[in-house]
Amino acid sequence: MQRGRLIVVSAPSGCGKGTILSEILKEQKYYYSVSATTRQPREGEQDGVQYRFLTRPQFESLIGENAFLEHAEYCGNYYGTLSAPIEEHLSAGQHVILEIEVEGARQIRERCPDACFVFIAPPGIEVLRERLMKRGTETPEVIAGRVAQAERELSMKEQYDYCIVNDVLEDAIADFRTIVRAEELRCRKPAQQR
Ligand code: 5GP
Repeated sequence: MQRGRLIVVSAPSGCGKGTILSEILKEQKYYYSVSATTRQPREGEQDGVQYRFLTRPQFESLIGENAFLEHAEYCGNYYGTLSAPIEEHLSAGQHVILEIEVEGARQIRERCPDACFVFIAPPGIEVLRERLMKRGTETPEVIAGRVAQAERELSMKEQYDYCIVNDVLEDAIADFRTIVRAEELRCRKPAQQR
């Protein structure tokens, strides 16, 4: 059986990453890595489904035990990928998807250089601002902060192997599938692995 690929996905908030991934994850060949976080659950979120919700001392003791493949602090909360389930799913031939921010992706690039790195971008920063405003869940200050954060994150996209521009949702989903198919057919390993 062919080993699965580790696929790292980053996107600024409001890019529609969640919608793309929920469609992709309907296929059995993917395993979504549930991260640990110290942020409070949002309405409707369940422990162990969207995240494992931990206290700061719990998270810090796992850092001490070296339990994370990567972890980062984002907007005042810890987020991290627990190493344990990942190897099991890769060996079982599933592609493991890590949905993480840019600092965590940088750590994975160092530790797992043969992973596949995908960035999802909005068609433009103005479109992103409009989407966040339409969502209506944030104050103008929070929206301004997220747009500024998105601009910082967008400047990192050259460090990723692929960039999908989420303009038309169906096209973005098709692009994601195309990238994974290309990775499944890959012969030559990424430069660091040669
Ligand atoms: P949210 O709080 O909106 O669910 O997530 C905030 C940010 O944290 C998003 O960019 C998300 O991709 C990122 N994130 C989620 N899980 C992890 C993780 O395990 N590690 C890192 N580094 N970032 C994560």
